[in-house]
Amino acid sequence: PIYSKEDILRIVKEQDVKFIRLQFTDIFGILKNVAITVEQLEKALDNKCMFDGSSIEGFVRIEESDMYLRPDTNTFAIFPWRPQTGKVARLICDVYNPDGTPFLGDPRHTLKRALQRATEMGYDTFNVGPECEFFLFLTDNEGNPTTVTHDNGGYFDLGPVDLGENARRDMCMALEEMGFEIEASHHEVAPGQHEIDFKYGDALSTADAILTFKLVVKTIAQRHGLHATFMPKPIFGINGSGMHINTSLFKDGNNMFYDEKDPLQLSQDAYWFIGGIMKNMRSIAAITNPIVNSYKRLVPGYEAPVYIAWSARNRSPLIRVPAARGASTRLELRCPDPACNPYLALSAILMAGLDGIQNKIQPPASTDKNIFNMTPEQREEEGINALPKNLDEAIEELEKSSFVKDVLGAHIFEKYIEAKREEWDEYKAKVSKWEIEQYLTKY
Ligand code: ADP
Ligand code: MG
Ligand code: MG
Ligand code: MG
Ligand code: MG
Repeated sequence: PIYSKEDILRIVKEQDVKFIRLQFTDIFGILKNVAITVEQLEKALDNKCMFDGSSIEGFVRIEESDMYLRPDTNTFAIFPWRPQTGKVARLICDVYNPDGTPFLGDPRHTLKRALQRATEMGYDTFNVGPECEFFLFLTDNEGNPTTVTHDNGGYFDLGPVDLGENARRDMCMALEEMGFEIEASHHEVAPGQHEIDFKYGDALSTADAILTFKLVVKTIAQRHGLHATFMPKPIFGINGSGMHINTSLFKDGNNMFYDEKDPLQLSQDAYWFIGGIMKNMRSIAAITNPIVNSYKRLVPGYEAPVYIAWSARNRSPLIRVPAARGASTRLELRCPDPACNPYLALSAILMAGLDGIQNKIQPPASTDKNIFNMTPEQREEEGINALPKNLDEAIEELEKSSFVKDVLGAHIFEKYIEAKREEWDEYKAKVSKWEIEQYLTKY
């Protein structure tokens, strides 16, 4: 929907909205809220709403902490699970400095800059369809989350009504009330694991939608006594949760990845886009797969990609070209996980693809056989590289990439690396349960 300031003021009155949450994210994509009452809304819509940015990760130092929130009126939505009188609504905001310039630590601004680049290159829309997977876990008697699923009963168990399926239905209903077009929702491979797919849209709306999606899923799960998690690999030995990113570039309503004359019906732009992602993948992995735990999902045996390859036939490589053509022609990047900051991840993916188009980076031949069955020598022969094997390696690749520095801007680039290093260093020094099990009695 396209809302003006007047529209919002009118809807708020009609719908009896009492509170408005002004939302934005830190550089890790964690949602932040400043709640205001409806009486302050007009001031907020005039971009006069100030907050203290010093408490937000990756934002600013204390001495320069005043920030302004500029609500994007098109993001107005009412939370359907809150009371029906004195309702609660939200607006997603851009973050500005007191001097009126965009704040360079705002990831939404990073994405706007990347989209600007696409516009300069003649594309008017970068369309993105995410596939968000998550687990639903039971909570214990104190209400704390566990890693026990609600539906891991045996094969013949008739069991009580599946808590998870009910919760998922309510999630879909709440999302639809907030304007989502749900395309599919289904139980995933692992016990307790679910996927809900919504219709693709332009990258900025989709990044906003991913944040809203997570909030809705977590909120509704809680109302069912469950804990929803987007942690990439909560349980060893079973599939983790990914967030496949389907992408296409449009111009004047035409899908620029489609070319009916090509043997695979893919355009030259599509091939170059693949080439650009493959070339830059190792340096953007710390953005698409941002946490220590991300790399425990990217291992052989669980349908998650490990090697940098593409295919139009095979479902397992990093980049898959789904069979649909025409307006649905798209490239599916399969490594991202839902712990990523969607604004930064979509910026990085877009800019990597545009790098391919700009520099005419032809991708290597597609890999249509199962890469996991190849020997290391065969992979070497075919020039197939692997994704970083852990966060440490991913940070190293990120740090030496002037491409990523350009995508993120120096401010986010530096803060991001600093925080990720700290995360890795802390993890590295911790003694794990596995080590105790392996070594305590043996040595
Ligand atoms: P999969 O076959 O990998 O399970 P899904 O059907 O779960 O794929 O999800 C496909 C996603 O791709 C949906 O979000 C859908 O809206 C999106 N999609 C469809 N066409 C396009 C397009 N042209 N550009 C980007 N995304 C698209
Ligand atoms: Mg899917
Ligand atoms: Mg599907
Ligand atoms: Mg899936
Ligand atoms: Mg998929």
